Amino acid sequence: MRDPFGREITYLRVSVTDRCDLRCVYCMAEEMTFLPKAELLTLEELERVTAAFIRLGVRKVRLTGGEPLVRRDVMRLVRGLGARIGQGLDELTVTTNGSQLTRFAGDLAAAGVRRINVSLDTLDPAKFTAITRWGRIEKTLDGIFAAKAAGLAIKINAVALKGVNEDELDRMVAWCGEHGFDLCLIETMPMGDIGGDRTDQYLPLSIVRARLAKSWTLAETDYATGGPARYVVVKETGRRIGFITPMTHNFCESCNRVRLTCTGTMYMCLGQDDAADLRTPLRASADDAALEAAILEAIGRKPKGHDFVIDRRRNRPAVARHMSLTGG
Ligand code: SAM
Repeated sequence: MRDPFGREITYLRVSVTDRCDLRCVYCMAEEMTFLPKAELLTLEELERVTAAFIRLGVRKVRLTGGEPLVRRDVMRLVRGLGARIGQGLDELTVTTNGSQLTRFAGDLAAAGVRRINVSLDTLDPAKFTAITRWGRIEKTLDGIFAAKAAGLAIKINAVALKGVNEDELDRMVAWCGEHGFDLCLIETMPMGDIGGDRTDQYLPLSIVRARLAKSWTLAETDYATGGPARYVVVKETGRRIGFITPMTHNFCESCNRVRLTCTGTMYMCLGQDDAADLRTPLRASADDAALEAAILEAIGRKPKGHDFVIDRRRNRPAVARHMSLTGG
């Protein structure tokens, strides 16, 4: 699949649920209205749409959400997709907040998952609860170490938050080095109403990187996953740090991905509203011809890029939907 700008689309991110057991302050409002369960695709339908993408050239699938591991019976989907590794699919990965990993790490590894991303913005228990509103850090840390014990490679995702975790990022680099985890730092993106002001949270990663460079030797690397992160290697620990900078640096020119929500809506860009309904063609027939045609038609509309802006004049989200719907 090639889009109008010549980019080959090989990566699908599937948001298997918009629900989450946490309420991170930059992601959701405390009181969220979630999608009615009746609107969700079944796990079988999600697998069928994902299989269509794989037939059309997707080689990497990431399950995300919401919190993917809180969807009931999600392991059925993981096992179904895991069975396609080597049959068109190269890699199946998961992005999780870690809260369910003590239960699922072994099953994920057995299903063929080799790498996971775990979101962890702080190592401080009180701050963790403040950021997630409801979470307890022990659960996530236990999950992370269960995943490590199960043999999964782990990348820690941390959103850089002004005045919240900025003083801790050095410690997180050290901690990740100690445990053999890569780290990915993310700028807050203006997605969805969070019941507060994002200009207070936004911390440009250019500043973070300059600060880290005072304590660590950050070596440029051409390591690339085809994703938005730009990586450096920390000489002292040997681990990588990725910087995802949608606000300070546009990364769209190398975009290789599209997204599918749990209702069967396909988004061609995280930062744009244009979408394609795949549920109707999926349910219209048992044959996948109409579904595949709808996917290809949508790829033909993939936009050149997003235009996120956080400033005081435009104090509203660039896109109305939350990250938890589209899949972060
Ligand atoms: N529940 C899973 C998790 O916590 O990783 C998967 C979904 S979560 C939406 C995926 C990632 O998006 C997390 O690392 C989260 O911190 C990040 N995220 C959510 N809202 C964001 C925002 N407005 N700006 C930047 N990153 C955001």
